[in-house]
Amino acid sequence: MTLSADINHEHILSWLKEDDPRALQELWAEADNVRRENVGDAVHLRGLVEISNYCVRNCAYCGLNRGNKNVSRYRMSKPEIMDSVHKAEEFGYGTVVLQSGEDTGLDCDWVTGLLKTIKSETKLAVTLSLGERSHDELKIWRDAGADRYLLRFETSNTDLFNIIHPALSGEPSDRLKILYDLKELGYETGSGVMIGIPGQSFDDLADDIILFRQLDLDMIGVGPYIPHPLTSLAKDGQELMLEDGRQVPNTELMTYKVLALTRIVRPLTNIPSTTALATLNQEQGRELGLERGANVIMPNLTPPKYRTLYEIYPAKACLYESETDFNACVKSKITAIGRTVGTGRGDSLNKKQNVPL
Ligand code: SAH
Repeated sequence: MTLSADINHEHILSWLKEDDPRALQELWAEADNVRRENVGDAVHLRGLVEISNYCVRNCAYCGLNRGNKNVSRYRMSKPEIMDSVHKAEEFGYGTVVLQSGEDTGLDCDWVTGLLKTIKSETKLAVTLSLGERSHDELKIWRDAGADRYLLRFETSNTDLFNIIHPALSGEPSDRLKILYDLKELGYETGSGVMIGIPGQSFDDLADDIILFRQLDLDMIGVGPYIPHPLTSLAKDGQELMLEDGRQVPNTELMTYKVLALTRIVRPLTNIPSTTALATLNQEQGRELGLERGANVIMPNLTPPKYRTLYEIYPAKACLYESETDFNACVKSKITAIGRTVGTGRGDSLNKKQNVPL
């Protein structure tokens, strides 16, 4: 069965439904080859700092939804964030990722000031993942030195997206438009999806992978959907589930298939082996992700007292590990599978390739 960067919808669909272990070996091997030939053996580390868990949205999948009154909300102070940022430097990571709920309390000037401080005190690349923010803000942050932005489109099925991601008063979300704006502003642009959302069909998932290629993304993150008990999707998801074998399961195996196919359609893109995957298989999920297409890991540098409160889904991997222990552990896992720890910023080769000469 075809496995090349121009693979079509029908072939992607058959791979997503493939369950023969021998055939799947072929998929894993091809994804690993494409990864090695295009982005090499280095695994880039990105220090993740979850700077706020306030959120104005009511996403049906996410534990930080504003309707969840059982979460203690926090917003890290600038000195706290800078401590985590300096830890990223100390550990030799080339990038810091600042992520949050969609928090209007993180106002434009404050984020701008933070970016300027990070850029003046360190050589780190900065990735933002702060939800849907205005074009003006995205431009100001880009001018202040932000290098990259992550915004998953979650699913390319717009009806399903609108169900799980309710619009803010009268303003429907248009994440694809924001992704095009980010590219135009010169950000390295990242997106991705959840796998196994109730109501997500195999056809939808094949469309998601085709859309990764159409958007020419520089970074792509995919992970299993993990129900959070304090969300509407955990309660009502059963009603959305598709029948007749059309529903995508939210399993580890399905995540590897999507990872591998994503690598095959976007050979030069940076692809993380995600924490959500490691949550399903704490022992080996991260390594298997790296061996089936991924080339990035995002160690969590959020201070432990806040980390447990950033509960987008329950039982997140590495909730209680210290940053120092995890740093040592992740590096030994990388070398144990014959890979190298990336040095420098680990910019996306996909983006570099598109820079006019
Ligand atoms: N507020 C930001 C960051 C959200 S958290 C934003 O909306 O972009 C980052 C990602 O975690 C989300 O994009 C989503 O894909 C994932 N996520 C959220 N809830 C999840 C769940 N229950 N299971 C798995 N992944 C989830």
